Amino acid sequence: MKILVLNAGSSSVKYQLFNMETNAVLASGLIEQIGENESNAKIKYFDNGVERVVERQSSIKNHEVALKIMSTLLIESGVIADLNDLDGIGHRVVQGGASFSEPEVVTEYVTAEIERLIPLGPLHNPGHLAGIKVSLEQSPTVPQVVVFDTAFHSSMPKHAYLYAIPYKFYEDLKIRRYGFHGTSHRFVVKEAAKYLNRDINTLNAITLHLGNGASVCAVKDGKSIDTSMGLTPLEGLIMGTRSGDLDPAVLFFLARTLGYTIEDLDKLLNKQSGLKGICGNNDMREIDKLAADGDSQAQLALDMFNYRIKKYIGSYSAVLGRLDCIIFTGGIGENDSDVRLNSCSNLGILGIHIDPVANNQRCREITTISTPDSPVKVLVIPTNEELEIALQTKEVVEKIH
Ligand code: AMP
Repeated sequence: MKILVLNAGSSSVKYQLFNMETNAVLASGLIEQIGENESNAKIKYFDNGVERVVERQSSIKNHEVALKIMSTLLIESGVIADLNDLDGIGHRVVQGGASFSEPEVVTEYVTAEIERLIPLGPLHNPGHLAGIKVSLEQSPTVPQVVVFDTAFHSSMPKHAYLYAIPYKFYEDLKIRRYGFHGTSHRFVVKEAAKYLNRDINTLNAITLHLGNGASVCAVKDGKSIDTSMGLTPLEGLIMGTRSGDLDPAVLFFLARTLGYTIEDLDKLLNKQSGLKGICGNNDMREIDKLAADGDSQAQLALDMFNYRIKKYIGSYSAVLGRLDCIIFTGGIGENDSDVRLNSCSNLGILGIHIDPVANNQRCREITTISTPDSPVKVLVIPTNEELEIALQTKEVVEKIH
């Protein structure tokens, strides 16, 4: 069984083709700068065990041309003979709002809902829709499934997802916490249950997805009961360029004293804040190097980043009551041993004890980094959102056959 996973943005399309018998990636690629004169299309695949990379530069004026080029690259590389030979196509969709708690077969209703949710996902949903529309035209006989980043968090109780603003804003405008990175949080919890030989339905975990975007999730009995991102991915942890939590009055203050507009504030909090706002850099590898060389702003950014994580671990431990494991994932979570060590330091009171030796590595596979007698296991689990989308797509396709 072959499943293609598509992540279409407004100016890029990321794709991965999986062999679902082995979960192996047969080919992957990225098409960038769609709509510009100098667009770039790339494919990586294996030819008799040898990795090959093919790149093409040309003008790719829209998603239709992008998906045609992707199809040509996949066919020329020999991994498929025709896009219609695929057993399923899985589309990543960031904002599924309150409408979707499970992956769905693409129908007119589903695309209309994704379109209706554009105000809640203005940066992502339009690109996803463009990809879905073209994909339906190009592969009309292949089952197509949408997998939502928000779906895993649909199990949050109302007292966790509501904001304490007048209730009519929830009723009329659906303003509430939705949460994101759900595909990643779900994937690592499933992996943890397998690794620990535990029934996922009784597993309590705190999952930390730490990448350029970062979020934390409280998982009770295998289900999300709270998460740090909110109506948008701006809330919660400190991120590469996003502030995460702050007093909303900071915005009134900036508007009143400096005359900042809504657009200025949006840019400030989403693109110029977080690690970048504190030390001028949003690449954790660079920040680690700068801090090691004595740069005090880089060290401050790290201290703030780790402190915010620690606060969430504390509050989610209280929310869960019993904690079985903490899971680190994402580019920073998988690779940065200092972040893991410092965000979990002095948490013995919660039964969290990191083993500095086990922790001192980049983790390419599931690794336990807590001491053998630590009541709470601390794990590093490489995330694989594309594989999770492929697995969910496969499940839906098998149900409809
Ligand atoms: P992601 O968004 O999951 O791809 O993660 C991107 C973040 O991971 C960036 O801040 C990178 O600097 C960080 N990252 C990747 N590799 C490392 C590493 N070896 N050590 C520290 N941070 C890393």
